[in-house]
Formats: sequence, structure tokens, C-alpha cells
Amino acid sequence: MGLNNQWMQRDLSVLWHPCTQMKDHEHMPVIPIQRGEGVWLHDFEGNRYLDAVSSWWVNIFGHANPYINQRVKDQLDNLEHVILAGFSHQPVIELSERLVNITPAPLTRCFYADNGSSCIEVALKMSFHYWLNTGKPEKKRFITLSNSYHGETLATLSVGDVALYKETYEPLLMSVITVPSPDCYEREAGATWEEHSRMMFEHMERALEQNHEEVAAVIVEPLIQCAGGMRMYHPVYLKLLREACDRYDVHLIHDEIAVGFGRTGSLFACEQADISPDFLCLSKALTGGYLPMAVCMTTDKMYEAFYDDYVTMRAFLHSHSYTGNPLACAAALATLDLFEQTDVIAANRVLAEHMKKATAHFVDHPHVAEVRQTGMVLAIEMIQDKANRTPYPWQERRGIRVYEHALKNEALLRPLGSVVYFMPPYVITPDQIDHLASVAWEGIQLATRD
Ligand SMILES: *Cc1c(COP(=O)(O)O)cnc(C)c1O
Repeated sequence: MGLNNQWMQRDLSVLWHPCTQMKDHEHMPVIPIQRGEGVWLHDFEGNRYLDAVSSWWVNIFGHANPYINQRVKDQLDNLEHVILAGFSHQPVIELSERLVNITPAPLTRCFYADNGSSCIEVALKMSFHYWLNTGKPEKKRFITLSNSYHGETLATLSVGDVALYKETYEPLLMSVITVPSPDCYEREAGATWEEHSRMMFEHMERALEQNHEEVAAVIVEPLIQCAGGMRMYHPVYLKLLREACDRYDVHLIHDEIAVGFGRTGSLFACEQADISPDFLCLSKALTGGYLPMAVCMTTDKMYEAFYDDYVTMRAFLHSHSYTGNPLACAAALATLDLFEQTDVIAANRVLAEHMKKATAHFVDHPHVAEVRQTGMVLAIEMIQDKANRTPYPWQERRGIRVYEHALKNEALLRPLGSVVYFMPPYVITPDQIDHLASVAWEGIQLATRD
């Protein structure tokens, strides 16, 4: 038995993998990875895989990046962790200062969590608690978009809307107000993204008008609903939403966990709408894909509403054991250094243009409904019947055929249902993009053949 197989057997006898029907592994291998280098993941038998999904959207500067490695190693020799209540440390202070500097002006406070879902919970709790502290306890509901995704804990599933993850747990969830998404895949033929996004805002306007007195916040994934199949919309929606939230006295939560740090073509997606949310949630690429950490950034106004004598019980008494972990902060500081050392956003513009060119012909494929792109995310929607826009039945799992084909051809492409997408680390080269494009093309051919 080969080394890969040995590790796979040991894995399957003790692990339970995330987001996986474990029975699938009776016929699909678990791929043990021995080491990573740049965009490549290497297994134990000399095979390699181009990480086109940035290991679940976290990695931006490549695996085992020498610079990030060194900063984490240096930190390791000084301080691995310390309680963040009552105590502090250099990396978390420096990181917070830098985050405040690079995000829109009203965001002045950093509250840390140790994963994206927890970070969203922080924002939801803080928003509700703000209204409680300011004498509006009736504001306790949330408005969310259809097809949105905000994590896997019960509260984040509640404000999410991807049936695959949510439906089973519905009896456990809180009730929210769900407004149709501005998703531009659904636009009328001939309509621009901007026109469609603008038109769809009417639903949001109405929901706010009718419910604002009991609504604490609106939560959105700016520009791309990633887990919802890389569905995209125009920044004008965010602009209209900011104005409406101000008019109706409702908080705006931006979940930039997946899109923050350059993914959409600007450092943060909110920049493209020239607005600032009341809560900005960041995670994933925050540490360059190295360590689990998240930050919920908010304003002085929010902070002040909690600042009082202890006995008033206005404090935000939320915590996680690993809040502000120094190793994770060191990885985040190194990641920010890399953004400063080169113009990553400009370099990404060139790579994004290359991704666009490399996949320009896909739209002519009889089973491709759309190729869409926002910055460093490019998605190809496979479809059963192009003329009638009939999707493939989900039970057919067409995407898995693309996944399996890619594995045989040095690529890790992990479609979301029938949506094949590239969301690679920013250190990918044009040649590697060409390789991904040809593997994806062949994979789509195979997956849609019958
Ligand atoms: C991944 C993700 C989350 C959840 O983050 P976890 O660290 O996986 O809990 C929340 N929102 C968005 C938009 C995400 O992509």
C-alpha cells in the first residue's frame, strides 16, 4: 500500500471531515498533503495540486510563504498566547492600529474572535446590545439577503440562506427577515448589473420601511455571495443600502470574511461603494490563510454605548479563549506587510484580466450559462438547458466530476454545486491560470457530456 493510502486509511478510521458525507470516501479518496509551497499542495507520493480555491478562500500569498513563516517563527519564540482580558501584547496592538488605518475612517475599534462565524455572532450581539443600551430593546431582528452565507453556528445559519446548510437545522434557528438578493445571475436579458442591483434594492427599501422599528441590523456579503455559488452584484446596492440604513436608523453589518483583503479588486469591498459599514467582519485572508482569527471592527459610536460603570451591566461580556492570539496576529501583521511591500491590488488587476481572457470562450459552451467575475473570483455556471435556464438537478452532482478530473490534472478545483470557480492565491502566475482554464474546460466537457 502506498504512503497516500496508508495516511488515508488512518485518517478514515479516526476523523470526521467538515462539510462531508463521509460515505463518499468509500469511492473518493481523502488526499493527504505532506507539504505546501506557493500555489502547490504536495501529497506523499510526488503528486501536486494547484490550490485554485485558496484552501477554502483563506490563502492569499501562497503556502509556506517564507516571509510569513519567519514572522510567525519569531513570534513563537517570544509569546505564543496570553489572555486578552486585562492583558495585552505587542502584535495585537500593532495589528489593531494597522487595521484601523487601512479600513474606512469611522471604523476605530477592533474586537477579536477566533473564526468567521464567531465574528458574525459578535456583530449580531453587539448590534442588538447597542439598541438595548440606548433604550430601544424592540430592535432585535435582522434583515438578510436570500442566498446569503454567514457561517455555520446557529445564529449565523439563521441569518444565512443556503438551504443545503440551513434547512436541517431550521427548528433551532431564530426568525429573520429575508429579502431577495440582488444576485445578477437572475437579471433580465439586456439589463446591466447596475440596473438589476438598483431594481432589486426596492425589496430592501420596502423591508426596511415596514420593519425598521424592530430591526437591529442588515447583514450582507458585499459584492459576492461566495458560498451561495459565487453570485455577484453591483456596488450601487451597497451605496443605496448605506443610505437607507442611515435613514431608518438600522445598523449595517458587512461580512467581508471571504472578500476582504483584495479579493474583489479593492482591499475591502466596501471601498467600491465608497461607504463604511457599522460593523466590518474580517477573517479568512486576515492571517494570510495561516491561523484562525477574526476581527469585528466597529465605530466609536458603538463603543461609547457600552462604556459605563460596571454595575450598569452595559459591557460587552463576550469572549473566546484564543481571542487575539499572538501567533495569528503575527501572521496577520506579516500579511499586511506583504500588501505594503508590493502593489498587490495592481498586480491582481493584471491576473484578473488574464483569468478573464483565459475563460472568455467558456460562455459559448452549450452547458455554460454564465461566466462572471469580480476581481480575483471567476465563476462558471454549468447548466442543463441553456435556453430555458434549467439548472442541473443537484442530485446529479455534476461539479464532483469536474473536481475528480482536476485532481488527475494537478488542480484542486472544488465546485459549489454546478458552479466551477477560480479563487486562487494572489501568487498564481499567468501560465498557471492557463492550466486551470484548460483543466476546467475539459472537466466541464466531461461533466456535461450526458
Ligand atoms: C467562511 C465564511 C464565514 C464563516 O467563517 P468560518 O471561519 O468558516 O466560521 C462567514 N461569512 C462568510 C461570507 C464566509 O465566507
